[in-house]
Amino acid sequence: MKIAIAGAGAMGSRIGLMLHQAGNEVILIDRWPDHIKAIRENGLIGEFEDHKVVAHLPIYSPEEIVEDHTSVDLVVALTKSMQLRAMFQDIQPIISEKTFVFCLLNGLGHDETLSEFIPRENIIFGTTTWTAGLAGPGHASLVGTGSIEMENLDPSGKAFTLEVLEVFQKAGLNPVYSNNVRYSIWKKACINGTLNGLCTILDCNIADFGSLSIAGDLIETIVGEFASVAEVEGIILDQPQVIQAIEATYDVKAQGLHFPSMYQDLIRNHRKTEIDYINGAVWQKGMNYQISTPYCAFLTQLIHAKEELLEAK
Ligand code: NAD
Repeated sequence: MKIAIAGAGAMGSRIGLMLHQAGNEVILIDRWPDHIKAIRENGLIGEFEDHKVVAHLPIYSPEEIVEDHTSVDLVVALTKSMQLRAMFQDIQPIISEKTFVFCLLNGLGHDETLSEFIPRENIIFGTTTWTAGLAGPGHASLVGTGSIEMENLDPSGKAFTLEVLEVFQKAGLNPVYSNNVRYSIWKKACINGTLNGLCTILDCNIADFGSLSIAGDLIETIVGEFASVAEVEGIILDQPQVIQAIEATYDVKAQGLHFPSMYQDLIRNHRKTEIDYINGAVWQKGMNYQISTPYCAFLTQLIHAKEELLEAK
């Protein structure tokens, strides 16, 4: 399969490398000049637990994607949420009417953004438990294992989605076909919408957050806001089960010692966060549906205030 990775940062490098190793024709698209230079000069380096891979993959900046590039079968979208629209504005030349897009971003509302560029019939949505980091330009740190859930937005996209599933299976990415990926996306948004923002503002790891006397109250209230808004969109979240999934991460043997990605992006690297697509999206949708979401609103504002203080880019 000819596959473009739109956003070849940490996660894009992981998925791109694993798909390439399984024999697919993979091109990377990214706008970070040092990353492009490093990959062109030395290849993309993937540091797995027990081995290292160097893959000489073609990488283009979006401006280099021009009309004479042939179209691809699949685009895997892996920018940060706030970068998705700009990416799809730029990569139109490799998208034909047959091209499918598989969106693996965290957060809510990406179906609306992608529908501006791609017919719904050609959109696949997913969530993943795989993780990845970047040790530097061209150098991905790929420890741990994970899985991917995927489902076509429109029933007519199912046959191609099953082909994608097989391709991901052969690449060892552990995909499963989901009958309700929107539920999984909301559930993951609840986990990110509690731990990401709260640990970032409280400046603590997940175990320390979980040990707070107020933790249960905060989680329950925020998940309740997500659930009220999701219900209007036809998703009935099992709140006790979602809360249990959040609380399971407190264990130091699970993810307790981990600082969530939003913490790492904002506090450590002064990068803008995806808050507008998590708590901010619930706040916005809540306003549209006349549902009050004060905790999501406050957390979104606090994170934006912290971005301002740290001059996040
Ligand atoms: P990242 O910042 O490492 O990668 C995003 C890449 O996209 C960057 O390299 C950036 O240069 C590139 N990019 C952004 N806008 C662009 C544009 N207009 N044109 C070209 N390139 C552009 O982010 P990430 O950690 O890989 O996360 C990507 C998505 O996956 C996010 O939604 C994140 O929440 C989700 N996610 C990440 C992990 C993880 O462990 N890193 C795990 C699960 C889900």
